[in-house]
Amino acid sequence: MAAGLPVALALLLSLPVPPLAADEGVLGSAEFASEAGESRAPEPAPRAAKPSAEPIEQQVKPRAAQDKPFEILGQSIAPGSREPVTWPVSINSIQFQVPVVVAHGGRQGPVMCITAALHGDELNGIEIARQVIYGLEPDTLAGTLVVVPIVNMEGFMKQERYMADRRDLNRFFPGDPKGVTPARYAHGLFQRVILKCDALIDLHTGSYYRTNLPQLRADLTDERVARMVSLFGGMTVLHSQGSRGMLRNAAVEEGIPAVTMEIGGPLSLEPEAVEYGVKAIKTFFGELGMTRSFRFWSTPQPVFYESEWVLADHSGILLAEVELGEKVLEGEVIAQVINPVTNSSQQVLAPYSGTVLGMAVNQFVSPGYVIFRIGKQRTEDEMRAEALRDSQAEDSTDRALDRLVDSEEELP
Ligand SMILES: [Zn+2]
Repeated sequence: MAAGLPVALALLLSLPVPPLAADEGVLGSAEFASEAGESRAPEPAPRAAKPSAEPIEQQVKPRAAQDKPFEILGQSIAPGSREPVTWPVSINSIQFQVPVVVAHGGRQGPVMCITAALHGDELNGIEIARQVIYGLEPDTLAGTLVVVPIVNMEGFMKQERYMADRRDLNRFFPGDPKGVTPARYAHGLFQRVILKCDALIDLHTGSYYRTNLPQLRADLTDERVARMVSLFGGMTVLHSQGSRGMLRNAAVEEGIPAVTMEIGGPLSLEPEAVEYGVKAIKTFFGELGMTRSFRFWSTPQPVFYESEWVLADHSGILLAEVELGEKVLEGEVIAQVINPVTNSSQQVLAPYSGTVLGMAVNQFVSPGYVIFRIGKQRTEDEMRAEALRDSQAEDSTDRALDRLVDSEEELP
């Protein structure tokens, strides 16, 4: 990484780079200080667990003016204002600034957090986060919004999913101040930002040559998370327990309800998908009473899906015959896989009727490659009952596959 990186980043993001707060050490944040040979700052004080059953919406007090500033990362944000701040980190003695944007409302309410680009090549979330925080009016906001638009700054600068050491940051939360680099990075973000949140939306896209219909992934066995997903309007919702080390799992374990929002594919900005994500988050804030409410949806209830993967059985060029979001019928041809050497063509059939929730972009595939995720609609009750059964069941092939290709998670 070039020594000029901090300057380049500051220019790129047009953010001021304030001097480090006194407790952050010369070479960067406390969590990296020991790696850099500096003395370690004291560990944060133990934090009381958040009340397990308090709905987020009860924290909104619409008529109560906010008179206290919001303190984060050694900086103080006045009520009714929006300001960029920075989280200074240091890796291998090279310090850089991770931008954080805070809108502290003129009225009291919860602290909402949005994280994007934990995977550095996932761009749609960065734009969603920008539109959300710069689209609201801090004066009338009830509560506080904290946005970390580019969590994995290393990956982002290289247009890569992982951190520079080839590890998936989203497997290391809540982090470890003495662990490998991504564990230390995760620890810093978790201690200094995430623990301030009353709820968290973590923005992702499909991974490597895959794209997803806008959807929420959430652990519906958790009451507060299930309540949270009901406030995003008519979004597609999939139950997913996630796995150890994922940011949303670590947050939920701390009593902070969290969902993942999947929007489109990596490495490009998709305006329609971005607009959809912005609409869903605005609906959520409106439903909570943090902002005025919006009427974006003809059917404002979430749509729950159970889903399975469709795998390629042959190798060749994949040519899909359906689009994301399309409804398919059992037995319908949804793709062709054409062998470029023999010119033979194999049809891929829909194994059941449903909706295309995720798919591989057209590319060369091998037998066993995951090419579609097809969802079957379920009622909320069916979905939650299934989620509870699933949480008690032995590991299924489907869940093992989820871990391999789920875009929140690590690929082999
Ligand atoms: Zn991701």
